[in-house]
Amino acid sequence: MSIETSICPICGAICAPGDAEDETAHQKKHTLYAKGVLPYEIREFLKEAAYAYLHSNNVQSAEAARRAIAFARWHRAREGGIPLSKFDEYMGDMLAYLDDQTSEEEKTEISKRWKKYG
Ligand SMILES: [Zn+2]
Repeated sequence: MSIETSICPICGAICAPGDAEDETAHQKKHTLYAKGVLPYEIREFLKEAAYAYLHSNNVQSAEAARRAIAFARWHRAREGGIPLSKFDEYMGDMLAYLDDQTSEEEKTEISKRWKKYG
């Protein structure tokens, strides 16, 4: 017997209506999304679009792309449980990470510092 599935029109997750465990997990995700966390698919879409502009000759576009990627990563970190109080520190690090002037050693340190949040 196969399980009926459907795609949630809001978050795009594949759901198994009637499966209590699945419905509970899905509802938990929606609670996070309501608080500002972005679904994986949306974060990846944002990052992909932004990466296309990251090395643009248009400085404004490149800066907006860096911020968009940093925000997408912040949303991933929020899903991973990072406290709201870490926002400025995290974003500063992510913007530095995406800066071509930042050394590979510094980038490695930044990655280690925030790894536990995803
Ligand atoms: Zn959903």
